[in-house]
Amino acid sequence: MKINSSKTNKNLIKAVVADKQGKIFELDGYAAVGMAASSLVTLSNKNTVAMPYGGEFMFLPDRHPVLFNLKTLQHETVKENPYAPGEPIFPVAAFNSPGYVISHVSAHMGNNDAKHLPLFSYGAVGWHNGQFRTAVILVDSERRQDLRLMQRDKVLAGIRLMKTKLPHNRLRAHIENCALTYGCPAAKNFFLKRFEAPLPTSNNCNARCLGCLSLQQNSGIKNSQDRISFTPTPEEISEIAAEHIKKVKKSVVSFGQGCEGDPLLAAHVIEPAIRLIRKNTQNGTINMNTNASMPDVIEKLFNAGLDSIRISMNSVRKSCYDAYFRPKGYSFSDVMKSIDIALEKKKFVSINYLNCPGFTDSPEEQAALYSFLKKYPVDFIQWRNLNFDPLNYWKIMSEIAPMSKPVGIKNILSQIKKDFPNLKHGYFNPPKEAF
Ligand code: SF4
Repeated sequence: MKINSSKTNKNLIKAVVADKQGKIFELDGYAAVGMAASSLVTLSNKNTVAMPYGGEFMFLPDRHPVLFNLKTLQHETVKENPYAPGEPIFPVAAFNSPGYVISHVSAHMGNNDAKHLPLFSYGAVGWHNGQFRTAVILVDSERRQDLRLMQRDKVLAGIRLMKTKLPHNRLRAHIENCALTYGCPAAKNFFLKRFEAPLPTSNNCNARCLGCLSLQQNSGIKNSQDRISFTPTPEEISEIAAEHIKKVKKSVVSFGQGCEGDPLLAAHVIEPAIRLIRKNTQNGTINMNTNASMPDVIEKLFNAGLDSIRISMNSVRKSCYDAYFRPKGYSFSDVMKSIDIALEKKKFVSINYLNCPGFTDSPEEQAALYSFLKKYPVDFIQWRNLNFDPLNYWKIMSEIAPMSKPVGIKNILSQIKKDFPNLKHGYFNPPKEAF
């Protein structure tokens, strides 16, 4: 692609790349480029923001950056450092903070033998006027998972307190490990008595998501956290929930975390746990993050007192959903039936819409999303980044469904807001006070 404006160049942001040791540096003469499937966009002040606090940089091995050459005004794949011939250079990407959804992936090409990237999202990033900038859109400004508000000494104090209060509770010990070993913000918030507490429960799942964070088998991908190895009792679950609900205003407690399978497969303990929680208090929002694969079970949980569900979907099209979730013993229509039941019962329904630029903002997926929203008027879309190797994801999806030139995540967001004014958007599970 050729860009013929020297005026535009002033706003372009500089490319950042890495050497083979992973050292990140700016590359003179090149601007950074974002990618959404086959579409390349040169990054400027206009389509990036100053990198939000808490983001992390990653360098992408076995891959080469695609950059914009400021002399030739062309996009090109740059394999070697032009100022140190023979020195390979690698793409750099940003794993952005919660609350932000990526609009472009860091542009790159892979070697034929490139190993699968670990389970993160790979936002485009560059350097301008003394700061990093990244291609993201703010979808939720709440500071629920702002690391600056999660001081380690305070987390440790909360851990000590909970150990004294609930010494034999295995779920408390599990969440403690999540906070300390994995740095899980939801686990930290339980000990800090803020917002939403996790209630991981299930060690089974009836899906085999390509990017499952808690279990990978023979995929060559490392899961990012280990799945809970036991099933807590209803009493253990309700003790954790009660501790959170009594201390936190507008609290949320959520089944279905990154360190477990799908909570519907642990409904035999969750249903009595919800009843126990609700026997003692009507405060707090009881939420479930789930694949919504078992409508009858969901109905029972709603009857027990579950307030809201958040349903994970990479796509609202059956074929694309099946290719990513790889359901075992349930079908896409079961997920839709669960939504129908929730809406009939006037329960709050969010879609955890796993965004990958190029696919999510393709006109085909947008049209499908519009049909879906007309048929299933859900309450909320949580715009979340898909944590999966983007080149592999595009390859898998393009073999199943057409992916025409993307319209842009930002455009989709603003269009949907106009066309579906009652639909809310964000990143976190809202408390019932905000339903
Ligand atoms: S539904 Fe959740 S737990 Fe089950 S495979 Fe998918 S990501 Fe993993």
